[in-house]
Amino acid sequence: MNGYETTIGLEIHCELKTESKIFCSCANVFGGEPNTHCCPVCSGLPGVMPVINKKAVEYTVKAGLAMNCEISEYSKWDRKNYFYPDLPKAWQTSQYDLPLCGKGLVEYELNGEKKSVRINRIHLEEDAGKLIHEGGITRVDYNRCGVPLMEIVTEPDLHSADEVLAFLDELKSILKYTGVSDVKMQEGSLRCDVNLSVAKAGGGKLGTRTETKNLNSFSSARRSIIFETNRQIEVLESGGEIRQETRRWDDNKGEGYSMRGKEDAHDYRYFPEPDLMPVVLPKSEVEKIRASIPELKGERIARYTDELSLPPYDAKILTQDKEIADLFDETVKAGANPKKASNYIMSEILRKGKTEGAEDVVVGINAKQLNDILSLVGDGTISLVASKQVLDDIWLSDKSAKESVEKLGLKQNNDSGEIESILRGIIDANPKVVADYRAGNEKVTAFFVGQVMKATKGKSNPKVVNELLVKLLK
Ligand code: ADP
Ligand code: MG
Ligand code: ZN
Repeated sequence: MNGYETTIGLEIHCELKTESKIFCSCANVFGGEPNTHCCPVCSGLPGVMPVINKKAVEYTVKAGLAMNCEISEYSKWDRKNYFYPDLPKAWQTSQYDLPLCGKGLVEYELNGEKKSVRINRIHLEEDAGKLIHEGGITRVDYNRCGVPLMEIVTEPDLHSADEVLAFLDELKSILKYTGVSDVKMQEGSLRCDVNLSVAKAGGGKLGTRTETKNLNSFSSARRSIIFETNRQIEVLESGGEIRQETRRWDDNKGEGYSMRGKEDAHDYRYFPEPDLMPVVLPKSEVEKIRASIPELKGERIARYTDELSLPPYDAKILTQDKEIADLFDETVKAGANPKKASNYIMSEILRKGKTEGAEDVVVGINAKQLNDILSLVGDGTISLVASKQVLDDIWLSDKSAKESVEKLGLKQNNDSGEIESILRGIIDANPKVVADYRAGNEKVTAFFVGQVMKATKGKSNPKVVNELLVKLLK
């Protein structure tokens, strides 16, 4: 824009879905009555000792491997000191100079073009609590204190809101396929800080950046990036300078605002955590974790095209959401024809499960139910149109598709003798239309099919009707 180039680097915080918290055995669950998932360790009482949750380390390494990161054989914990009421210890146990994962690379696609973002590091830390501002007072809920939080830091390799969203989408998919996080932005399990600078294009130097904190939806990330880009260009155009600062985004107003000047690392007085041993990960341990990584999106796409002979278009759509890919896999395992299952999922299931603006697709049907619907359509028991009623009826329940067909009376009439006699009646009653057909107007067959459907309340097998019609009219 106006000869300016935008540069963006992200710091992404992602809550890991371990069963317990990072340094104590409290349950790691979203929500719950305030301060019910707390103990002396995670509510910061003096004299307690943390114990590291090995699963949290394993998940971070798993995510790091999936992002092609170097894994540290030796990493350690540090205290990041600051006072804020949501942090009862007044320090966050984090990792400073020796994080679990080092440099990596994530490839993603934007409008069919392959792009990549370098990862600078991934470290593990504890989440803080939540402040609840209500009725003029502020209360604090420590349930989230000590939830394992992974921080992914990218290099400044992104240049637009479109690139950021496409990259975040890829990241979300990596985190879901590896199984380390649910990635629910609405619940705050993925939050993103956007570092952004602008500079004259081709000048070879990056501008001064600002950091907008805690964006918790794709749409607020997009809007804040556009806002901040324009703001910085305006400041520079009017002869001003960008102040390196920490900013907030107000999604209701659609504006960002300055929160404070940027803090430096020394402001936090980082020092090694004396209560925790360093993490030592021999290569053999890392390889074990690597072997436990489930099939990721790219591998699924390859399997769908190579082994199941699906078109690449299908494979890409089916794997966009892990829940859909899992449904597809299980339905094929239950005996469905892959292409038929794919067609039905891409048209009907995604039509029902995807809502505009929703974060995740809703999969309201299981593999057994879907496989039953596909066989009922396949053997002509119900029509494709009727299957949509079945889908509506059993969606988000464990009702059986077969019973639903019975209950709704959707069985199709495949009895050609009966259909033939109905057709003969209609043909006899409409000599003009028959003459039309014989004069070459084949479009009128639709009239006859429509009449049969009307007479049989839509339950005649259209294939049988069409075959008989051609035979009788000839
Ligand atoms: P800090 O830890 O002080 O926030 P870092 O050097 O670790 O600073 O960088 C944090 C983030 O800022 C990284 O994602 C990095 O890619 C990004 N970044 C660094 N310089 C720039 C810049 N000039 N413009 C945009 N992003 C930048
Ligand atoms: Mg930062
Ligand atoms: Zn606890």
